[in-house]
Amino acid sequence: MTVEPSKIHGITFEYKHKQIQLGVDVIGVNNIRSTTLTDGNITIQTPEHFLAACYALNITNIKVSLTDCELPILDGSAWPFIEQMKPKCRPLTLSENWFNVSSNITFSDGESHYSAQPSDSYIIDASIVYQDRWVNTMSFRHDHSLATFEADIARARTYGFSDEVAWLKENGLAKGGGLENALVVTDSGYLNKPRFETEMVRHKILDFIGDMSMMNHRLKGHFTIERPSHRGNIQFMKHLLTLK
Ligand SMILES: [Zn+2]
Repeated sequence: MTVEPSKIHGITFEYKHKQIQLGVDVIGVNNIRSTTLTDGNITIQTPEHFLAACYALNITNIKVSLTDCELPILDGSAWPFIEQMKPKCRPLTLSENWFNVSSNITFSDGESHYSAQPSDSYIIDASIVYQDRWVNTMSFRHDHSLATFEADIARARTYGFSDEVAWLKENGLAKGGGLENALVVTDSGYLNKPRFETEMVRHKILDFIGDMSMMNHRLKGHFTIERPSHRGNIQFMKHLLTLK
């Protein structure tokens, strides 16, 4: 994966000599466990952690060349992207495209519930609920800035439950691989050492920031997200755009 400056505004992915420009129209439908970008010719998988890092660093005007259709999972978080890109980028003074939440909005997609209220900053109050597991309810509030993203969110890894065989296989864990790219949740705790006690819900905030960035706007609003999912995030974001 190579990232280089581009004269084209926004984020362009290139794979097999074909390009796809980040935007709402290219978000794939198969976005249960992760998000995909597709234009019918090429499909790019799992861009969300990279995109969350780009949002936090306020990076636009880049071309991302890929040798694989899936972005590298690295450690399952956005931190390696921040580490690599931060020293090499400088913010452009462009007239930014803002989306300000101007009235109270509520939205549901299955078990995922979203609400938004006006705010001068970008605040995300997230909670996850697994009633039949020890996790029960886990919440975290993120008042977004690059500094808070780096301190609280960027390092939170993707997670899965040790009894979910399909998930383990997808992540290469069932093959006896390491535990380097995910937090594994067991019946009584974590299989590997968590980076934060609330790492799971923090990762949901990371995914939300990455998914929401696909609308190509800087955001202002106070968002409350309960049991968020990639599909719910995308539906909610599309709903917001209909209100613009
Ligand atoms: Zn994720």
